[in-house]
Amino acid sequence: MAETRYIFTTGGVASSLGKGIISSSLAKLLIARGFKVTIQKLDPYINIDPGTLNPYEHGECFVTDDGAETDLDLGHYERFTNVPTSQANNVTTGRIYQAVIDKERRGDYLGETVQVIPHITDEIKNRIRLLGNGGKFDFVITEIGGTVGDIESLPYIEAVRQMKWELGNRCLVIHLTLVPYLHSSGELKTKPTQHSVKTLLESGVQPDVIVCRTEKHLNQALRNKIALFCNVIPSAVIESIDVETIYDVPLLMRDERLDQVVLEKMQVPIRKEPDLAKWEEFLFRLKHPEGEVKIGLVGKYVELKDAYKSILESFIHAGASNQVKVEVKMIHSESINPETVGNLLKDLDGILVAPGFGARGIEGKITAIQFAREKMIPFMGICLGMQCAVIEFGRNVLGYKDAHSTEMNPDTQFPVIDIMEEQKKINKKGGTMRLGAYPCSIRPGTKAFKVYGQAEIKERHRHRFEFNNQYLESYEKAGMMLVGVNKEDNLVEMIELKDHPWFIAVQFHPEYRSTVANPHPLFVNFVAAAIIHKKS
Ligand code: GLN
Repeated sequence: MAETRYIFTTGGVASSLGKGIISSSLAKLLIARGFKVTIQKLDPYINIDPGTLNPYEHGECFVTDDGAETDLDLGHYERFTNVPTSQANNVTTGRIYQAVIDKERRGDYLGETVQVIPHITDEIKNRIRLLGNGGKFDFVITEIGGTVGDIESLPYIEAVRQMKWELGNRCLVIHLTLVPYLHSSGELKTKPTQHSVKTLLESGVQPDVIVCRTEKHLNQALRNKIALFCNVIPSAVIESIDVETIYDVPLLMRDERLDQVVLEKMQVPIRKEPDLAKWEEFLFRLKHPEGEVKIGLVGKYVELKDAYKSILESFIHAGASNQVKVEVKMIHSESINPETVGNLLKDLDGILVAPGFGARGIEGKITAIQFAREKMIPFMGICLGMQCAVIEFGRNVLGYKDAHSTEMNPDTQFPVIDIMEEQKKINKKGGTMRLGAYPCSIRPGTKAFKVYGQAEIKERHRHRFEFNNQYLESYEKAGMMLVGVNKEDNLVEMIELKDHPWFIAVQFHPEYRSTVANPHPLFVNFVAAAIIHKKS
């Protein structure tokens, strides 16, 4: 397409209605019609990025290839579209203001008074257009975080208003609202939707499409009513009914003709019907499992599923790939100790120790790993999970009594995990870890090599500490093999145990690269190992 088109997704009535999933589903449908699409998230908070946010605040921090620490919605974008995102795909109010203030300090505004309109809104528009520049994409879908009416999102809505005015039908707004069902009267209610569209209109934005999240089907009369009150055509009132899995949503949106309505509204000639054969095959395998395995996920944010979003989604992809149901049992690392471990981890077909920071729950993770190692249960460790596997092996196999990471115990006699050289001089917390994709070379003939089927790989990172190479030889000799290394910096990236059916741990985060189209081989193989373990 000659010119990039811009689609905005706003939300009304309540948060957490699934703007990210609707945006991802629309992107998937447009891609399946042969268009090039990217999705961006604008977050109205003041943090420069979510990297400094506690998972309790905002769930998982997703990391891109170029090392951006981003909102977890970017994970959905990648899992649905199979198109990698980058720093430009997630912008926060903090970043916008920082850019404007930097310009002001440089004198770029030549004495002007710097204001929300036009300076902040111009910066927002620049960030949106940046993705459209160069004609790489036919569509840029921009999801505006938060809910209309929030003070924080006003500048974003204003930027949308201006872009609509400037671009005419190259710009379109989808408003996602909630149509609640009142059980007492047995009715779906449209009033909250009417009010939230009114709020949007107060800011000068007329939505083109209304997507209604609902637990019951919307009949035609109700669609007509919403259309009438919200100034859209009835076919632009789209139902988004609660579903079994988020991966059903692209098909539902196809059936509701969301993509067709969008294309018609933007006067884009309809090329072909979306080809979703592979997606449907994935869904079939997901919904018709021929067995079940139980994986224990040991972490410290178990009350909060969003904290491990990408890991849980990777298990869904890997389960479908193996055509088994993967039941993930969340186990709080603080509840694990030598007395409880047997009971808490019994009946598991695989154990995964999650990434994390700080000392809380660390001993429970180490105990869980000892259990997996000694009982020959398939084990996978990610980032801190790998570091704990190294500590456990040091303490219990090599006899390094107080072996630890210097993150938890700076005075340990056996600093088997230590801070990376380049990290020593860093004192700022935000955006300063070893972040993003780095190459790793895998030793041929190992399990890890078999998993990947190749020696040279690239995976995403987010850490400050690493395996201490001083201990390389002792570990190798004792049977923990350092099978993946980054040759440039000589960093250990993957370990595996010689005498164990499946014990692989990695310093990087494979979960950030698993998508519906390309389930991650580590997860796929780990689940396969769990199936074998269950049978035995
Ligand atoms: N805290 C560890 C480090 O910084 C592990 C980080 C992680 O698990 N993402 O190296």
